[in-house]
Amino acid sequence: MKKSDITGKNVTILGSQRSAMGAARLLRHFGAKVLVSEFDADKFSADKRQVLADIEAEFEFGYHSPDVLASDLVVVSPGIPENADIIQKIRSKNIPIYSEIEMTSWFIEAPIIAVTGSNGKTTTVNLIHHLLQTAGYDSFLGGNVGVAASEVLLGSLKRSSDKPVFVLEVSSFQLDNIDTFKPQVAVILNLTPDHLDRYVSLTAYYESKLGILNNLDENCTAVLNRDDPELSNQDINVDNSRYFSVSSPSGGDAMLAEGILGMMREGEWSPILPAKALPLPGKHNLSNALAAIASVMDFISDPEILAQGLMTFSAVPHRIEYVGKINGIRCFNDSKATNIASTEVAIHSFPEPLWLILGGKDKGGDFSTLISQLEESTREVLLVGAASDIIETQISPALPTRKLENIESAINYCLENGTNGDVLLLSPACASFDQFENFEARGDHFRTLIQTHEGWSM
Ligand code: ADP
Repeated sequence: MKKSDITGKNVTILGSQRSAMGAARLLRHFGAKVLVSEFDADKFSADKRQVLADIEAEFEFGYHSPDVLASDLVVVSPGIPENADIIQKIRSKNIPIYSEIEMTSWFIEAPIIAVTGSNGKTTTVNLIHHLLQTAGYDSFLGGNVGVAASEVLLGSLKRSSDKPVFVLEVSSFQLDNIDTFKPQVAVILNLTPDHLDRYVSLTAYYESKLGILNNLDENCTAVLNRDDPELSNQDINVDNSRYFSVSSPSGGDAMLAEGILGMMREGEWSPILPAKALPLPGKHNLSNALAAIASVMDFISDPEILAQGLMTFSAVPHRIEYVGKINGIRCFNDSKATNIASTEVAIHSFPEPLWLILGGKDKGGDFSTLISQLEESTREVLLVGAASDIIETQISPALPTRKLENIESAINYCLENGTNGDVLLLSPACASFDQFENFEARGDHFRTLIQTHEGWSM
């Protein structure tokens, strides 16, 4: 679809959350007639009504009217599954359905670096964005990362920029409904099981992620993780690919070799930075850093600029974020770890004696897998929130556990009993909704408690 083709078209946007509101604003900007149709009446707010009225978009909350089925095209929010009633009806009318990323990409003229994968997307897009900014690019960061791609594009249209690049975090749900989406650089970080409530099979989930490669041509590059077993099993057919690896020091394009992060340039090894100097903990972050290096190689060739960018990157909030120390106990906020796999990654980042705060709203995982990983290093596992009992039955008595009322009592308990050199880690392996609005609110609460505690320093 071209920019000029959208003017006057009847477009329905299904859903009314962040990306839907962005899509509405962008489509109105380009002259489409927009209907925002939200099935859930509880999603209505006076603010949304005001925004939609201001841009002269139609809206309906609590139902989908027959107008939806008279649209020229539909933009679907990532939260709406393919088997939803309304999607089936739209499909039966042969009305095309696109994701917000697909639609936004019709209007982006600058190069796009798009990142997908099961884990590490937010960290990696932030790293790429920071590297590009360090090298003097006008980098626009959006997608699944807080600000919708459509909002970011609208913002970019308001200012002129010399060297624009769009860095987009793309979820599998956004990739489900792409058509012509063609990033200049398409990154797949890893493939691990997730979202099995939305996909009929693991294969379907992986296929959705691989969809990021569908439209790549000879001017595009796929950036792939050589270490990921699932990704290596896939049949990938692209003109240009680049690999990153933490475990094989040869045969890639961005690698870890003898403790140094570096890249291959015209057949020559070009060292960038000692791994120890990367201000992010854990092997998984070395992998994310290498993915970022491989993604920007077309844009930045000077290893010194890359080193400067990597060294000056500050951790993304809520992802193993260092929040300071009290009495020599270093404290980390990993509130984004809402499943067991991400808590495992966090545990592996710390050889030090560990106080781990686990718990929240259970998502049905098997916590006993944590036993072997915590046996050696853990002082005590501090259980908080609704899932405390379930976790306790699964990991006690193999691990020392203690149930506490809330995060504050867990922090106090650790500080009373811990010693200099220990690590306190909030990495809950559960959703936050039992006690908080979202994982950000939980992490902010933890950070504030630590940073207002007596004896705190950075
Ligand atoms: P995403 O945006 O894909 O959810 P984030 O960057 O927000 O990823 O990281 C979420 C959690 O996943 C982190 O707290 C960390 O524990 C874990 N993680 C980050 N990068 C990786 C990686 N490359 N491989 C495995 N796990 C990772």
